[in-house]
Amino acid sequence: MPHSAHPTARAWLDVDLAAVRHNAAVLRARAKAPLLAMVKADSYGIGATAVCRALGVAFRDQPPRADAPWGVGIASLDEAETLRSADCLGRIVCLQPLLPPELPRAAALGVTPSLHRAADIAVWRAMTSAPYHLSIDTGMARAGVRWDRVAALRDAVAAAPPEGVFTHFHSADESLPSRDEQDERFAASLATLANVLSPGVLRHSDNSGGIASRVQGSPGHLARPGIALYAGMFDQQLGLRPVVHLRARVIDLRDVHPGESVSYGATWRATSLRRIATLACGYADGYRRHLSNAGTVLINGTRCAVVGRVTMDMVMIDVTGVPCERGQVATLIGRDGADLLTVGMVADAGGVSPYELLTGLSQRVPPVYHDALPVPVAFPS
Ligand SMILES: *Cc1c(COP(=O)(O)O)cnc(C)c1O
Repeated sequence: MPHSAHPTARAWLDVDLAAVRHNAAVLRARAKAPLLAMVKADSYGIGATAVCRALGVAFRDQPPRADAPWGVGIASLDEAETLRSADCLGRIVCLQPLLPPELPRAAALGVTPSLHRAADIAVWRAMTSAPYHLSIDTGMARAGVRWDRVAALRDAVAAAPPEGVFTHFHSADESLPSRDEQDERFAASLATLANVLSPGVLRHSDNSGGIASRVQGSPGHLARPGIALYAGMFDQQLGLRPVVHLRARVIDLRDVHPGESVSYGATWRATSLRRIATLACGYADGYRRHLSNAGTVLINGTRCAVVGRVTMDMVMIDVTGVPCERGQVATLIGRDGADLLTVGMVADAGGVSPYELLTGLSQRVPPVYHDALPVPVAFPS
């Protein structure tokens, strides 16, 4: 994707929505199942409304596309409210447990809650005939009914059968034995409830790691990718396209002489005459302080090292020998020319998770959405 020159911003996020759509298609094909696309945390910092629109979810002014996800997943009712306020009409499932006092708001917002306690299921059914999904904990130990305790829910489920039943993996991409153990526990739970669940109940378990770990598709009726939609992980393995391109302007340039230091704490010193550029992006923008003396930034498709500590509003890079002018656009994450700094590469360099890197991008970095761009097969450098 060619980078845009934002008219005013010192730093911004070019977001390739066509790439989100491409990634959704890849994941759907790999999972062999419709998606419950995870758009929690504002679509991992990218913008939930824009992502839902790009994926073809129904909005008041936009009929659902044929390849739209089955639904979208969120973690808080405020996130659902944001989508509904933007006239989103699509199915919204809250995967995080809600407390009983939140259930009326979920019903009012048309959100499908995850429930796993008999009393909550009864409260929900007394309030509405709308669907809910039953949450089963098969080893994550975070939310849901333990797999070996589902029998206690038989009466509640018989009285109000769920639309879906799901579980969540703790290490699907790292350990196939752990995934298989959770698969087995999930299957055993479903068997225990077999005669009270409706035959068409929607089973789902696969997050991005789960989808990536399967060779023959997901075992469920739906798959729930998050990070992979945004190419934060599994991008090389699955052929996903980069979505996020963090840009910042060069706002100052100087020569630094041998022995002189750069930035707070003087953690970096020049050993020869160096040309140092200052970029208008710092940790308050989401360019993590962990990238101090460790990050890499693209200037005209050339890799330049971060020197010294990342500061709140600015970061310095070594552009010695690289043509670089004030006002020029640097790429801190994403593609510039022929080179690409993936979310995974930048996260690794800083020793943070790709999830934290994406969700840590701040509001000070306004998103600029691009869509319907031609597939970027090759780029001029
Ligand atoms: C966040 C989340 C997902 C998506 O996980 P990724 O690793 O980002 O693909 C799926 N299911 C549940 C229940 C989640 O909380």
